[in-house]
Amino acid sequence: MDLKEHIAIVEDWPKKGIQFKDITPLMDNGKAFKAAVDEIVEYAQDKEIDIVVGPEARGFIVGCPVSYALEIGFAPVRKEGKLPRETIQVDYGLEYGSDVLTIHKDAIKPGQRVLIIDDLLATGGTIEATINLVEQLGGVVAGCAFLIELTYLDGRRKLDGYDVCTLMQY
Ligand code: AMP
Repeated sequence: MDLKEHIAIVEDWPKKGIQFKDITPLMDNGKAFKAAVDEIVEYAQDKEIDIVVGPEARGFIVGCPVSYALEIGFAPVRKEGKLPRETIQVDYGLEYGSDVLTIHKDAIKPGQRVLIIDDLLATGGTIEATINLVEQLGGVVAGCAFLIELTYLDGRRKLDGYDVCTLMQY
């Protein structure tokens, strides 16, 4: 299946110069969405993953069905002030803006093997920050999976030494 057929490209959104890759048409199409999730599940299958971690908000959309299929847990990474219990945090830069990401302190046990999932790899700032949070808690990043990679932003540079899977490249 050509997953790219289900990605809408929106010019100059959310601001001028950004070419936004909209995954909602993929989510709208049950067969395409399942095919994408299944591909990530297949990638994760032999990695002995203990838990999936995904940054808000689209990391939840892709990460949760993968954790369900693997019959393992999902831990959310959220912007500052959104998680109700004790958290750790990290500052990070985005393709458009900068922010703070947090995770519950007890979300990952030391030594657990973690699969990090997000919709899209752009500059790699979000994934780098998420890896930082996982490793602060003693988790082992066994893989990172994305629906989309913007190769022209070279986010992979920040993922040297990590196992990375992307389903579509632009
Ligand atoms: P980055 O931290 O630069 O790798 O950006 C990744 C995060 O920002 C992902 O969670 C994406 O949802 C979002 N993002 C960044 N650039 C784009 C883009 N061009 N189209 C859609 N989402 C994007």
